[in-house]
Amino acid sequence: MPDANAWILDLDGVLWLGDQPIPGSVGAVRRLEQLGRRVLFLTNNSAATVADYLTKFARIGLAVGGDDLCTSAQAAAMLVRPEERVLVCAGPGVTEAIQNVGAVAVPITATAVADGVLDAVIVGFHREFAYESLLQAFRAIEAGARFIATNDDATYPTPEGPIPGGGSIVAAVEYATGRRATVAGKPFAPIAQLVRDRLGLGGDETAGLTMVGDRPSTDGAMARALGARFALVLSGVTKAGHGPVDPSPDCEELDLEQLVEAEFGRV
Ligand SMILES: [Mg+2]
Repeated sequence: MPDANAWILDLDGVLWLGDQPIPGSVGAVRRLEQLGRRVLFLTNNSAATVADYLTKFARIGLAVGGDDLCTSAQAAAMLVRPEERVLVCAGPGVTEAIQNVGAVAVPITATAVADGVLDAVIVGFHREFAYESLLQAFRAIEAGARFIATNDDATYPTPEGPIPGGGSIVAAVEYATGRRATVAGKPFAPIAQLVRDRLGLGGDETAGLTMVGDRPSTDGAMARALGARFALVLSGVTKAGHGPVDPSPDCEELDLEQLVEAEFGRV
């Protein structure tokens, strides 16, 4: 049975900031579930493994299953085939996703890279990014490997304010190689397909989907790509008093709690 009335929630800036849940967000998710809505979590953050995420959900009091989480790491892995050798210029979430599709995840070490032809390079957020990563990604792409990015977010919201996001690392590799990456995460086609698969939606079936996010360029554009309503919340990168945004949201509230209250009334 397709989940046509699903709510698709971004994580950073909607459910939490860093390790801190956004006040009221956990109760709002529980309420959506009590109302019988399928809740799918959708993140462009590719660094963490699925187990890391499930632990983090559990820590804030949400019982979330692996099927309820879509990451840009998983979307990027949809672009590689079994047995391919893929250079990981990204975090453990990407290594895991590559292995889950039966491909070989090659770490950034000169010996691993020298071991054979690389079919693809996946670039994503990782705090260990250094010149060696840039060098190995550059060499692999120059030698003909496909250039895949998990996402192109310039920044990433944290409780201490924004920090450079995966897109900033991708930009370094793009600048060095003069090539554009194929981006897998929001709002692009691979992750849209991942969401459709998870919700059991075929063709252009979209009725009743709601996409909640804090960044119009990714979450809003994703909503448009899915034919979903775009609900903008101001608990992440977009602040109250912002100017016009593109795409413009179908509804806007301070945070997820207020959005759910505006939709279904106060409890
Ligand atoms: Mg966000």
